Amino acid sequence: MPWDTDIITYRRDLHKIPELGFQERQTHDYLVRTLKQMGLDPVELAGTGVMADIAGTRPGKTIAVRADIDGLPLDEETGLEFSSEHPGVMHACGHDGHMAIALGLAQRLSASRDFPGTVRVFFQPAEEKPPGGAPAMIAAGCLDGVDEVLGLHVWANDPVGTVGIRPGALMANADEFTIRVTGKGGHGSEPADTKDAVLIASQIVVNLQTIVSRRLNAFDAAVVSCGTIRSGVTFNIIAETAEITGTVRTLSAAVQQKIVREIGHIAETTAAMYDARAVLEYVYGYPAVINHAASVARLEQAFQGVVEIVHPDPAMGGEDFAYYLQERPGAFFFLGCQPDDAETFPHHSPHFLLNEKALPLGVEVLYRGVMSFLTA
Ligand SMILES: [Zn+2]
Ligand SMILES: [Zn+2]
Repeated sequence: MPWDTDIITYRRDLHKIPELGFQERQTHDYLVRTLKQMGLDPVELAGTGVMADIAGTRPGKTIAVRADIDGLPLDEETGLEFSSEHPGVMHACGHDGHMAIALGLAQRLSASRDFPGTVRVFFQPAEEKPPGGAPAMIAAGCLDGVDEVLGLHVWANDPVGTVGIRPGALMANADEFTIRVTGKGGHGSEPADTKDAVLIASQIVVNLQTIVSRRLNAFDAAVVSCGTIRSGVTFNIIAETAEITGTVRTLSAAVQQKIVREIGHIAETTAAMYDARAVLEYVYGYPAVINHAASVARLEQAFQGVVEIVHPDPAMGGEDFAYYLQERPGAFFFLGCQPDDAETFPHHSPHFLLNEKALPLGVEVLYRGVMSFLTA
């Protein structure tokens, strides 16, 4: 059973049928069918999630490998012959690659079960959007009996043949906020009678940029970005209300809490300067992905000679794999998948390309990662 050629087929088949979070029906069916063909007994959980255990010939520990399965709401523009057949949905983050790698690992392990313990592969819906599929998978039992959990993300910024991994924070707390400003609208020619919500919102946006530059320790990494300001109706009316939305990325709970306080304080006091009001609504997203040091050390050892190990700065993106690492020891890492001779497009771009040479390497490093745990 040639897992290393089959994984390309899996990836292309799945690339054609991207589905949004918790709607991954066809994907689910494909995964179940393929796992059954390997002689495995997949179970359904959390709606479209799938999980299968591959038991070795001897008793031992259990290690789980997670793949996420959802696509993004984009029209694909790669021109690939196996492009999305679902209008408005695309595998633009590489989750098709994650599924192919996990299937390849399952295929390789089920062909030769000469190992102690059990490897569980589980396929999780809805990574792309909070609240994410991970909490539902955990509630449905994907970590029951599991001693360690591993996951990877294909990474277009890094060349094929590299793995990016580090102990501690690898990815960020990814939160969302909305600030609602209430002033007093009026005639554009008579501002003295108004409390201009456009002006106040603008001042708030500017002042928010002093949090990272002037309120945080220079060694605390954080991002505060305002994504939208919505206000006003036409040129000669002073706006009564404004709404700002944005995102906050942090690597620790302490910095996160400081920023929540600072945003609220700046919004309220800036509005108060103009005798207006501003109210902050802060929504906590995925927590930070915090890798366990012992797992990282073991994996780095296991990956020696197969890939070049790099120690990247933490990525300020969010990833719901974080929830698994709150429950069990384990680690998450980046698998370089940069195209060899095509332009590199960022994840979530309609032009996103994944170098398929990364897929067998993904199986190889996960295989070594699970074996190093089970045979330790
Ligand atoms: Zn993504
Ligand atoms: Zn992703």
